[in-house]
Amino acid sequence: MNRFTKLLLASAALCAVTILPARAEIDVNSLKAAIETSVEADYPKLDALYKDIHAHPEIAFQEEKTASKLAAEMRALGFEVTEKVGKTGLVAIYKNGDGPTIMVRTELDALPMEEKTGLSYASHDKTIWQGRETFVAHNCGHDIHMASWVGTAKTLVGLKDRWQGTLMFIAQPAEETVSGAKAMLADGLFTRFKKPDYGFALHDGPFAYGTISYRVGIGSSNSDSLAIKFHGRGGHGATPQATIDPVMIAARFIVDVQSVISREKDPTEFGVVSIGAIHGGTAENIIPDDVLLLGTIRTFKPEVRAKMLAGIERTAKAAAAMSDAPAPEIKITEGAKAVMNDPGVVATAEKVLKAAFGDKLRPSPPGTPSEDFSEFINAGVPSMFFNIGVYEPERVAAAREGTGPWPPSNHSPLFAPVPKPTIETGVEAMTLAVLSTFDQHANGK
Ligand SMILES: [Zn+2]
Ligand SMILES: [Zn+2]
Repeated sequence: MNRFTKLLLASAALCAVTILPARAEIDVNSLKAAIETSVEADYPKLDALYKDIHAHPEIAFQEEKTASKLAAEMRALGFEVTEKVGKTGLVAIYKNGDGPTIMVRTELDALPMEEKTGLSYASHDKTIWQGRETFVAHNCGHDIHMASWVGTAKTLVGLKDRWQGTLMFIAQPAEETVSGAKAMLADGLFTRFKKPDYGFALHDGPFAYGTISYRVGIGSSNSDSLAIKFHGRGGHGATPQATIDPVMIAARFIVDVQSVISREKDPTEFGVVSIGAIHGGTAENIIPDDVLLLGTIRTFKPEVRAKMLAGIERTAKAAAAMSDAPAPEIKITEGAKAVMNDPGVVATAEKVLKAAFGDKLRPSPPGTPSEDFSEFINAGVPSMFFNIGVYEPERVAAAREGTGPWPPSNHSPLFAPVPKPTIETGVEAMTLAVLSTFDQHANGK
């Protein structure tokens, strides 16, 4: 090695060790400070929006008022807004020079359940859903996502001298029924509008606020819904010999189907089947003609899914055959596919989020709920889906140490995020993730 090469290597090492990381760090810190100032100034408005949406939730494909509230917010920020994309969805576009198109998604819908949090802004609203009256509540926290989404849009517009490209903010209906993403795509989301180059979405969860969890690769499960109608022959409860009892067949199936999970599936692979509803019968002394079971099947891998579907079908047929009953009607409907996070998109955002959040950014194993954000990924948008916590860190720590109960999870009637720190983290993390992607693209890295 000659002197010149040594010198070159030494200066290259110096650049690598000092100059580059120092620059990157300064950028993230100054950006984080700018974002925090913007969010702090905007928070009262975001809080009011959050509490209004929380108090007046709307269920899948009924989210008309919610969508108009978001449309008004986005128009005020200078976005070009198109409403009623996929029934109640909306698309908001903001162009800011040459660069990639980055999509940020929120959901619009709430759940058919009663909120029992006792919060001053709790929902007491009811609606008609699937022919029945039901309470409606934002107990999956999609209202947190909407407030973070508006906050992120506002922050990015405020920082428009720091990035170039197009923002495509979409508000998706009917995530809970895993049908809203498909509805938006079928209504020309990626043909009437430009297909985005990258996509982001977040979801809240029952862990400490201020923390973010993420993963590369599989982020959520495949979801299939299951409906089985067991046919019997109705009659008097006192003369079962003259009947074929579908209640007993259904009961046998509910227990036996769990052996598909424990005996047929590889125990190291994820797979779950849960029966969530049983409909059958009218009175204590009447054996009904039939019983309907509704359930959900969750998996990560296609081969595990195929094995489980086959096992579930075989078990249902066998349960009916044991009672010499007619074959059951089995309907399995594919819902959401697993969310696959793109390694490149995650790596870019991870660097910046790590610099901003330190050890509050945590990689985590895949989650078992499902998410139809996967539809956009499968349509060819490399994406990152991450989670943010909603509860006081001390409360979560106490639960972890066994000195307190676990705080209620999403879909619990008691799910109650702490709004300010949760929304602020959502805005900061999403803004940084989007900016990191614009920056990566601009530098051709
Ligand atoms: Zn949910
Ligand atoms: Zn949700």
